[in-house]
Amino acid sequence: MGQMATDRATGSAAQRAATDGQAATRIKSYAPATGDLLGDAPNTTPAEVRAMVARARVAQQAWGALPIEERCARVLRFRDAVVDRSDEVIDLLVRECGKPKHEALLHEVAVVADLVTYFAKHAPRILRARDVPLHLMKQRRSTVHYVPRGVVGVISPWNFPFQLPLRDVLTAVIAGNAVVLKPSEVTPLIALKAKEIWDAAGLPEDVFQVATGYGPTGAALIDAGIQFLVFTGGVSTGRRVAAACGERLIPCLMELGGKAPLIVCADADLERAARGAVFGGFSNSGQVCISVERVYAHAEIHDRFVDRVVELTRELRQGDPSRASVDLGAIIFPQQIEIAERHLADAVAKGAVVRCGGRRVDGPGQMFEPTVIAGCDPTMTVMTQEIFGPIVPIMRVASDDEAVRLANDSHLGLNAYVFSGDRDHGERLAERVQAGSVLVNDVLSNAGCPEVPFGGIKQSGFGRAMGDDALRDMCDPKHISVDRVATSRDPLWFPYTDGSYAWFQRGLRALYSGSGLVRRVLDLF
Ligand code: NAD
Repeated sequence: MGQMATDRATGSAAQRAATDGQAATRIKSYAPATGDLLGDAPNTTPAEVRAMVARARVAQQAWGALPIEERCARVLRFRDAVVDRSDEVIDLLVRECGKPKHEALLHEVAVVADLVTYFAKHAPRILRARDVPLHLMKQRRSTVHYVPRGVVGVISPWNFPFQLPLRDVLTAVIAGNAVVLKPSEVTPLIALKAKEIWDAAGLPEDVFQVATGYGPTGAALIDAGIQFLVFTGGVSTGRRVAAACGERLIPCLMELGGKAPLIVCADADLERAARGAVFGGFSNSGQVCISVERVYAHAEIHDRFVDRVVELTRELRQGDPSRASVDLGAIIFPQQIEIAERHLADAVAKGAVVRCGGRRVDGPGQMFEPTVIAGCDPTMTVMTQEIFGPIVPIMRVASDDEAVRLANDSHLGLNAYVFSGDRDHGERLAERVQAGSVLVNDVLSNAGCPEVPFGGIKQSGFGRAMGDDALRDMCDPKHISVDRVATSRDPLWFPYTDGSYAWFQRGLRALYSGSGLVRRVLDLF
């Protein structure tokens, strides 16, 4: 254990990747809550990644040719197998990620089961070819088909190592693609478990493959001939990945970091707002891209709100994540704790007050106390940069307008939260907050809603996971245009003549100027 803890303490996953990622042939996986070595996985080489993508391309031909109803039925077999083996999956999630058992069940396994169930039911409707009536060229019939893109690459982080990759893998395969997943180097075993369940459920092995490895394996995936990339991770990696995709003209979806603000209005239900801040800030020990990362509390209720948040935080139980009665588990690797400590030191030096928590927890694993700090202001890094740890910083504001202004003064825009006793007022504020999703009187729940788009604006990324459009984005929209009436000559084709020019000139005016009478007549059909 001592040696393992030392290995673990030698630096972050990224640092280890930088030093030994290219050379090592295996990746080691450690339990954040105990420091135990859990196992290892291949460090997939670029040549192996290329071979995987080549196999995926072949497998996709048959998979993509299946009727969508058949693909959905087969993917439901995978869901059933995940549910049957959920104890095994939850156990590994708890060990490899250090997250509480409850969260492994609800935020990982249940979210995947529900997402598959939703898309298996609705994908045939969402991806059905649709006729598009042309407003001008009435002589033609246009249909848009949703054609699988081919091989989709998925690169994912460690904080939801089951739910996040499978969300993208499963929407991609339902849409008819084959997928190669590059999971985080910190959580390779859970990705391999998903693959093992897929294969055991009798699904085509090359339709879903897993290339475990460090950053260079992800870079190799982008270079291996994929047609679409879904990347979830930090902003700085996202920049490099988007540039690599741009270089190769590969379309991509970027799900990057967040700095979710939570606004507490003077009329809010304080009990719910305080519980929301605690759940939203400390779920998965704050290692959530949509965590409550900063709170703006109206001056009228600020003191009572802070006191209640502190009381509720002190009641949280931190410890062995395999126990169902534990609220907070471990921090994934030492660097995340160092980041939290740097934010705290900066905030305290600038006048913030630590109301509870603030320290590492002694023990074999990596834990950090759930921490509430008050008296924060925008000069502190804790209010402006992603923390990704169990810290809830709170700032007093004089008005809702000030709260919205500060909420919007950020380079990130993934989720945001507004608590108000007046739902209409809450909704109006939500419309003014710049974010991909804004929840009124709730936190985090949109991550479990497959029917609505999920994603960010500004440097939180672009494109959307989930929602009907996400399924369509896994396809190339293909337009097929067929003539309704047989004609051997077309007035738009050669030869051009003075007469045809004059005719089209009159047409321009008739269609697009003044009353546009002709256009309005055409609109009737
Ligand atoms: P990270 O950016 O360090 O790594 C993400 C993935 O990218 C890993 O699999 C990594 O191996 C891979 N990678 C690294 N370098 C690469 C390269 N050059 N080319 C291709 N792939 C490369 O992120 P992380 O630390 O694993 O995750 C935490 C971050 O993820 C946080 O910023 C968090 O906000 C973000 N996140 C966002 C969402 C979302 O939906 N927007 C969800 C979860 C996490």
